[in-house]
Amino acid sequence: MKTIIEKIRQDVEVFNGQEEEALRRAGGIIRRGGLVAFPTETVYGLGGDALNRESSRRIYEAKGRPSDNPLIVHICRFEDIETIVDRVPEEAVRIADAFWPGPLTMILHKSERVPYETTGGLDTVAVRLPAHPAARRLIEYSGGYVAAPSANLSGRPSPTEARYVAEDMDGRIDMLLDGGQVGIGLESTIVDLTVKPPQILRPGYVTEEMLNRVIGEVDTDVTILHKDSDQAPKAPGMKYRHYAPKGELVIVEGEPDRVAAYINRFAAEAAAQGKRTGIIGTSESLAQYRADVVKCLGERSDEESIARNLYSVLRQMDEEQVERIYSESFAAQGFGQAIMNRLLKAAGHKVVKIERENP
Ligand code: AMP
Ligand code: MG
Repeated sequence: MKTIIEKIRQDVEVFNGQEEEALRRAGGIIRRGGLVAFPTETVYGLGGDALNRESSRRIYEAKGRPSDNPLIVHICRFEDIETIVDRVPEEAVRIADAFWPGPLTMILHKSERVPYETTGGLDTVAVRLPAHPAARRLIEYSGGYVAAPSANLSGRPSPTEARYVAEDMDGRIDMLLDGGQVGIGLESTIVDLTVKPPQILRPGYVTEEMLNRVIGEVDTDVTILHKDSDQAPKAPGMKYRHYAPKGELVIVEGEPDRVAAYINRFAAEAAAQGKRTGIIGTSESLAQYRADVVKCLGERSDEESIARNLYSVLRQMDEEQVERIYSESFAAQGFGQAIMNRLLKAAGHKVVKIERENP
């Protein structure tokens, strides 16, 4: 299969004739059961018709993804939620008012219209109304219901730029809409509204505190930051090794100046064993690091930059064929919880804690 690539500008609400044409063509592909990768504000999605079981099967096949891992259904108008859920609870309306369009996914009981192929066999469905104008236009041209997981091969970091989609999906999908680098860079927050109190299954840009202000009490799935739990994650996808670079990644936690010294020492030891080494740091500490490849996520205080660059830096470590990677750690509060959730998964929860020095 030849993958057609078309460019779409981001941050425009009105598209030019060529872009409209590309979006209309992409919508036609999805209506006919094909697959189109497209930019959203979180990461690139791999879209197919959510109401067509054959399309969902194709998505799993293209990603090499286990078919018990459900897909998020993307809509472009709030009213369309009625078609795919059995009932819209009051909290869903309040959450939509506050966070849609945007990086927030709700889990609700599904209607009969949604095939089990799309929900990985579950009676619930994940729904999101994205903010990205090209994504919304594409959904409209596709008939209104686009199932879209992240557009990476299963197990690889989610793509934040079209070239990463092409790396994984070229020849496996019909079309790729290239909208440049995405804005947020981490997948949507997932909140399950079928339980009381509602529960966050995956942290994202919309934090627990933000949800508290809109719907009161919410729980967070305990498996988000801890591996040592008997409980299986509630979002089936969260159990898979995810977001991972090919090299072995280790997170080093502790006081910043001591962390840099330790990371350099670990990297030197790995290099002495003949390993190609990489370090993931922040602007503040970057000059101190010594390794084959040193990459910067941005300023430590700028969580948005850290989130936006994380997956790209993990992929660059692969491009540079790094075998052992050391990364700084981040405060797991607010949006930082989403950053640490992804980083911990990428590292398979390998964390070295540097103890405080005795005074
Ligand atoms: P991705 O599409 O790559 O962002 O992954 C979608 C995530 O949503 C996966 O972690 C899924 O397990 C989760 N998800 C989708 N539908 C449901 C559902 N009905 N219940 C729980 N989690 C879901
Ligand atoms: Mg994914």
